[in-house]
Amino acid sequence: MIEYDYVIIGTGIAGCSIAHFLQNTNILLIDKNDNISKGASGAAGAFLSPQIGRNNDFKNLVNKSLLFSVNFYTKHFPQDIKTKGIIKIPKNDEFKIKFELYKTHNDFRYKKIKNGYFFDIGSKVDPVRICENLSKNCDKKFNYEVKTIEYINDTWVLNDEIKATKLIITSGASIDLIKEAYFDIRKIWGQKIEISTSSNILNNYHKECSISSSFKMQNSSKYKMSIGASHHREIYNDSLKKKDTIKLLELANDIKKLNDVKVIDIKVGARASSIDYFPIYGEIINAKATLEKYPCLKNGRKIKNENFTRFKNLYVLNGLGGRGFVLAPYLAQELVNFIQNNKKLNDFITTDRLFLRWARKSKYSTK
Ligand SMILES: Cc1cc2nc3c(=O)[nH]c(=O)nc-3n(C[C@H](O)[C@H](O)[C@H](O)COP(=O)(O)OP(=O)(O)OC[C@H]3O[C@@H](n4cnc5c(N)ncnc54)[C@H](O)[C@@H]3O)c2cc1C
Repeated sequence: MIEYDYVIIGTGIAGCSIAHFLQNTNILLIDKNDNISKGASGAAGAFLSPQIGRNNDFKNLVNKSLLFSVNFYTKHFPQDIKTKGIIKIPKNDEFKIKFELYKTHNDFRYKKIKNGYFFDIGSKVDPVRICENLSKNCDKKFNYEVKTIEYINDTWVLNDEIKATKLIITSGASIDLIKEAYFDIRKIWGQKIEISTSSNILNNYHKECSISSSFKMQNSSKYKMSIGASHHREIYNDSLKKKDTIKLLELANDIKKLNDVKVIDIKVGARASSIDYFPIYGEIINAKATLEKYPCLKNGRKIKNENFTRFKNLYVLNGLGGRGFVLAPYLAQELVNFIQNNKKLNDFITTDRLFLRWARKSKYSTK
């Protein structure tokens, strides 16, 4: 049996970011796909843009993560990030009023321009290259689906074949390995397209979709750019892909007139979203053992969270929704600091909140 200090299941931006921060340890990254970031991460437009609105925990988390991730990518992978700013265009009069109303709450420098607001922090990364570079020093195993995980003699054993002292699950929208009813993830499918065009677009834009700045294609007079993204609860088929391609092109043309367009690539993926839209990180709580110890949790009684029973050496980073490239580096750094240095995690992001909410509604019998 092969053995590692750390095994990470999932080579999207969550798993690769954690691999980066774990540094200098013996790490194996596993994915059921045949290469890195073939899940949601490969489909992402990978725009990094500020959250606008009233101050609240979600907006504060996103904007703190945005600042962190833009600085982080720029410092470590300057070749994979383009910071050309983003122009946010209100999609209708209601949004125009909201923009004006919330402008005192903006966390980033911006300039009002003719039809929108220009934020110079707005950026875009190359999603696949970022994931490759983040994880370049780790061992990898592709085409390998983890079907079972068992904790035997202080070690996690995967598929009866691989041993891990610590196991981190960053499996995005596939959560079959986490057999806890409170750990609920919704799949929001989406599509991005890449096009060639004779129009040169200088900035990133967001209105009803996002369009990227363009770059000149090699040996061609044309430019390449990305347009994203759509949102659906149902899985994609060819007809939905076609419909979404037409819709995305319409929405993009409403932002900037694009000439001589040819679609050169279509990617779809499932965003993993938690029920309250916040990301999820930390240890995985053993609900059965915790409720057996504290049945009063079902009546809403408060017990110190440190008393919950947790699976040993088992961690998760998930629920990154539509902002994985903004959130993952910041949250991965916090999670690694927790695993290696016992630094406290943010209560409103850990699995604890999901467990507590579920426990109060649970019909689980302790008899
Ligand atoms: C169309 C689209 C556009 C988007 N645009 C943006 C954007 O502009 N900006 C932004 O920040 N975010 C964007 N997102 C969101 C972003 O892509 C996600 O938040 C992010 O990719 C999630 O990363 P992840 O690592 O959690 O999951 P994933 O990238 O899905 O990675 C999970 C991996 O786990 C593997 N896996 C699962 N189960 C197993 C198993 N049992 N064994 C082995 N391997 C397993 C999967 O194969 C997969 O590779 C977009 C998403 C989509 C779909």
